[in-house]
Amino acid sequence: MVPEALRHPPGGKPWLLYLVLAGSVAFNIGVLSRYGASTPEVPGVAAPAPVQAIGEATEVSNAPVPPELLAPLPTAQGSVSAPGSLHFSGAITRSLSDTFVAAPTSSPAALSAVFTRLFAWDVDMRRDLHKGDVVEVLFEQPASGEPVVLAAKLHLQPGSSAERVFTAYRYQAPGDAYPSYWSAEGQEVPRRLIDGPMENYEQITSLLKDRPTHEGMDFKTNMGTPVVAPRAGSVTRTNWNHAANGNCVEIQYQDGTLAKFLHLNENMVQAGQRVTAGTVVGKSGNTGHSTGPHLHYQLEQGGRVVDPIKYHGTLRRQLQPTAMPGFTERVTQLDRQLGEQVAVNP
Ligand SMILES: [Zn+2]
Repeated sequence: MVPEALRHPPGGKPWLLYLVLAGSVAFNIGVLSRYGASTPEVPGVAAPAPVQAIGEATEVSNAPVPPELLAPLPTAQGSVSAPGSLHFSGAITRSLSDTFVAAPTSSPAALSAVFTRLFAWDVDMRRDLHKGDVVEVLFEQPASGEPVVLAAKLHLQPGSSAERVFTAYRYQAPGDAYPSYWSAEGQEVPRRLIDGPMENYEQITSLLKDRPTHEGMDFKTNMGTPVVAPRAGSVTRTNWNHAANGNCVEIQYQDGTLAKFLHLNENMVQAGQRVTAGTVVGKSGNTGHSTGPHLHYQLEQGGRVVDPIKYHGTLRRQLQPTAMPGFTERVTQLDRQLGEQVAVNP
């Protein structure tokens, strides 16, 4: 939504940046407010993310899908596409997770969770799915760990006037540390926090709205990735409740908001220290109750948890024009693989 060029306007026109950012924030607040309200569970429709009992004191939040979801299941039908890649498509009858049970993978629940994570930015999986909606996914299944989605489509209410199609193609943009997911038009599918605590991460794997018991946002990333203070403030404490939180840092922003950075490999600041926006406060890690390298970022105001998405606002990146030819070629390739499989398995 905010082109990269406008975020760092050449020639110094900060008013333009502020105008665009203000518009973006206003838009996001509008878009996201619908996610903010608690939504009732729709019977038969799966919760979008694996549920674990998680609180500050019992943080076991992870980046990857929990091991119990990776346990082999007997059902496996579908087809092998290009070497190493697998294809699945199916219509939703009862729930998303039920639909994925027929997928050719030993861990349908993990595939369902990964698929959900991709489109959760646009679709409320508890509320927006209907019987007859179609899912399609091209993926790889590593010997261990969660499935890697290469391309995914979610077709809502096909054939009706309310029809909507969401697509996501895996692609590593030039200069990015990790592959991400992009629409065919080159717009990034997952949103990013505006001035968040981390630039280089693989994926945001847990949103506040996913799990009521989980109080932060999780950024899956390699060990040692720099974590920065998004706002100026002062360090209020470090390494409290170390068994659960691991190495951790708490910062009070100048507006009074408390920010917690958990599971760090290394703290780079000490209690009492003042920080400016962009100060490196630690390196990401896997300490405390954590099942994979990630950063847990949590905000509180007056003792209440605040959604980082609302506090920061979000944006979507657009691929640079110079990246588009290579990306479009990749999209054509992936579409061909999806299309062949649809033809083989109508
Ligand atoms: Zn977490």
